[in-house]
Amino acid sequence: RAKDAGRGTAVVFDDTMHREAEERRLLQEDLRLALDGGQLRIGYQPIVSVRQGDIIGFEALVRWHHPERGLLLPSTFIALAEETGLIESIGAWVLRQACSDAMTWPAHMRVAVNISPAQFGSAALLNHVAEALAASGLLPDRLELEITEALFMNHLAESDGFLRDMRALGVRIALDDFGTGFSSLGYLTRFPIQKLKIDRSFVSGATDFENRKAVVEAIVGIAKSLHFETTAEGVETAEDLAWVRSLGCDQAQGYHFSKALPIDHVGAFILGFGNGSADAPATTHAA
Ligand code: C2E
Ligand code: MG
Ligand code: MG
Ligand code: MG
Repeated sequence: RAKDAGRGTAVVFDDTMHREAEERRLLQEDLRLALDGGQLRIGYQPIVSVRQGDIIGFEALVRWHHPERGLLLPSTFIALAEETGLIESIGAWVLRQACSDAMTWPAHMRVAVNISPAQFGSAALLNHVAEALAASGLLPDRLELEITEALFMNHLAESDGFLRDMRALGVRIALDDFGTGFSSLGYLTRFPIQKLKIDRSFVSGATDFENRKAVVEAIVGIAKSLHFETTAEGVETAEDLAWVRSLGCDQAQGYHFSKALPIDHVGAFILGFGNGSADAPATTHAA
């Protein structure tokens, strides 16, 4: 009986795996067509200076408008794109599009682009960045590349050359999801980094937790002494904002200000944000 049940389970499990594999294969085929078919779009999420309360730039967040499945977030397809190698062309497209979109914004505003582990350390990435800058005419210091802290730590050998190349181009570097990746402080001093983005797990609703406070204070302290900027991710409420302000974060990003916006809404958002203070949440349109 136990044997039968065991076998039954195995069959069901096998079936599920088969269906999942099939599902992935279908999604992979769709993704191949998505880029050429114009189904990939970029949502732009504002990053706000905590002290002045103005927009310093936007982070480019890729979205897939799937004809049947609707809006898909990066968590459903970036890993797939990495496995299939499609991440290289998707990444190149995001860079090109983000740089040319940023050219339509006020000249002091930057655009931040996420770089996947699979793109990291390849010579193609350097070319794609240089091409995106040349094609758009964007000044290099308006482009910021976001690399997760974990990725940076796992690829220290490649990081060195990569960061040097990027700095030679004049592009800025931010460590994303900072606080989750166990960086050695020694490495932080060695690499040409301009910003730490404090992971939202330490930020959203964090007023309730003393230990999170200690983490953020420590990160801000390190950043200040190494002359890095800090951005708090996941600022969802006025309380979150007041809190990261009290800890001395330079910038804030999160649903309190806006979700990622379609490019056609960015201009109006900038105007509407106007001279309003950072405390005033603006209208949000999900991209
Ligand atoms: P990330 O770079 O850390 O981006 C921040 C994520 O947090 C975004 O999710 C954003 O929508 C979400 N977020 C922003 N504010 C809040 C908030 O107040 N509360 C909460 N709960 N979440 C907030 P999204 O767009 O789903 O992106 C997830 C991740 O996918 C990104 O994390 C980034 O690592 C990756 N990603 C996005 N676009 C690209 C891309 O073009 N290329 C690559 N390689 N990765 C990308
Ligand atoms: Mg990011
Ligand atoms: Mg992040
Ligand atoms: Mg993240």
